[in-house]
Amino acid sequence: MSLRITDELKEEIRSRNRLEDVVGTYVTLKRSGKSLTGLCPFHNERTPSFSVSPDKQLYYCFGCGASGDVFDFVMEYERLDFMEAAKRLAERAGIVLDTGDESSSERKRRQERETLYEVNGIAAKYFRYRLLKSRLAAAARNYLSSRGVSSESSERFLLGYAMDSWDDLYRVLQKRGISEDGMVLSGLVKKGKKSAYDVFRDRIMFPIRDASGRVLGFGGRALPGKGDDQPKYLNSQETPVFSKRRILYGIDVARDSIRRSERAVVVEGYMDVVTCHQYGFTNVVASLGTSLTRDQAQLLARYAPEVVILYDADVAGQDATLRGLELLRSEGLRVKVVTLEEGEDPDSFLRANGASKLKALLESAKNLTEYRIDSVVKNTDLRDASLKAEASRQCIAILVEVSDPIERLEYSKYAAYQLMVDEDVFLRQVDAASQRDRHAWDTLPKTRYTKQVKSAGQAGPGIDRRTEPQAPGAEQPLAEKLTKAELLLLSMVLDDPDLTALVDDRLCEESFSHESAYRIYQLVRECAGQARGEQLHSRLLARVDDEAMKQLIHRLSVDAGGVAADPKRTVVDCALHMEDARLGRKIADLESQLRESEREGDIDRSLRLRKEIMDYQRFRQETRARMSNPNAYRS
Ligand SMILES: [Zn+2]
Repeated sequence: MSLRITDELKEEIRSRNRLEDVVGTYVTLKRSGKSLTGLCPFHNERTPSFSVSPDKQLYYCFGCGASGDVFDFVMEYERLDFMEAAKRLAERAGIVLDTGDESSSERKRRQERETLYEVNGIAAKYFRYRLLKSRLAAAARNYLSSRGVSSESSERFLLGYAMDSWDDLYRVLQKRGISEDGMVLSGLVKKGKKSAYDVFRDRIMFPIRDASGRVLGFGGRALPGKGDDQPKYLNSQETPVFSKRRILYGIDVARDSIRRSERAVVVEGYMDVVTCHQYGFTNVVASLGTSLTRDQAQLLARYAPEVVILYDADVAGQDATLRGLELLRSEGLRVKVVTLEEGEDPDSFLRANGASKLKALLESAKNLTEYRIDSVVKNTDLRDASLKAEASRQCIAILVEVSDPIERLEYSKYAAYQLMVDEDVFLRQVDAASQRDRHAWDTLPKTRYTKQVKSAGQAGPGIDRRTEPQAPGAEQPLAEKLTKAELLLLSMVLDDPDLTALVDDRLCEESFSHESAYRIYQLVRECAGQARGEQLHSRLLARVDDEAMKQLIHRLSVDAGGVAADPKRTVVDCALHMEDARLGRKIADLESQLRESEREGDIDRSLRLRKEIMDYQRFRQETRARMSNPNAYRS
């Protein structure tokens, strides 16, 4: 086999296989701050200590120390060598490696997907062209401008128009060399009795793209006043690349904004997304249906820790909707709910009230638990004792689902107040109910992951080394040798190398308790202003040979920043703590020299040492005075 993976190809494979997606097929990941966490597939555990950083494309397990990038993960999990792992990942991303050993069914599936992307891509461009240029698209253009859609929005979402014709698209696809089978596979064309025909006719077309911008399928909206026998919205049928339960409309456009704002806003429909973006709410996506699926929840959890649901009040209150919201929460997301009046949607709301009103509404979003309690209370006549008792039971059932005890206590108080019941009595009932619930949970069989680990073990020898955390005799990880302040400082500068400029004049090799830590700091400093995120990490790791240092970088990457509200202040504080520790070490050293010189009766030297110690103590006082929180990073 003559295959060689060049650095370029390796980078292409890496960039088209998001680590969180690949890991996510083996491990259920939940959002936790900037990272995603789950049960480690490499050792047996009950509480998640396996972390993935989507920003840095690295993983680290706090239990067993397993760490690395997407290639390492596949090699380790599937027990493959690098070349096999690269092939597996290339195939997953639809990258063709010229190896000649793809099985025929694999080849067929890959070719099908490629055809679908191609057909959808051609169709999206063609619909767009028709909307912009065709005389016969005037009604469509008028409709969009009557809805206030700007030409920028129209371009951003690649809006198009499918002509009122049976074969307009068909002929274009044919000219572009697409086989009739390919067209039918895409769902854009159907086979009729006599001939094939276009499925979308006389409709505004909304291409539905994945996060990387590939067109997966379409939504088509009928023009008003026409074809009342036709559904208002028509979606592509399910295909090997289009599955309605896996998509979020607008994710390609909203992705970066969602990451930056650490929040996604979910609306119902296409026009809601387009209008919200036009009004500056760029972190909005649509679920295209109100009962969110687990796939959608997992997709959202990759990008942000918080999801705000913006539906009409009627829809939001429905059981199917609420189940979807619980799914979001079970993926580790913070869920908030904003409701609009019945019959109102974000599109109509914005056009009637403007951006500042919607902003205020989003700011006032209620936590899911509060929202559910409110809904129960709102629908109950609290003057009736038996109805009130029933409402209390419903609220207790909601509260039991809140896993964090402090959060549960706070919402329990809130519910007691809303229900106008005695707080103590109510809290006791919630407690009793959650004890019962906990018991039921403990007796559930927890087989899922142990099975997975076993089957991974059967895949080949060598897994045993990872089934026990910290195999005996293994060297202590570098991280254990560093102070809290050092770990935090390094994770902060790894997150944002430019922060090194703030502390550079304070730090020297002696500031770090281990030279490898200083070495990492230096490497990051050299990258300041040049790279960050994934690029920074792949550049850094390429320059480090030492496994312990690599592992530390992986660990710091998944653990990063997030916690610090004020990164600049935090970094400076860490540096001050490290300086404090360095001065402490220096003073201890001088004190031991002083004891020695006093034993020897060397008066001159003792005096000099005393003075030096006092100087260092003064420095130390000054350093401490500059800290905003002197107790914060002690270890
Ligand atoms: Zn582990």
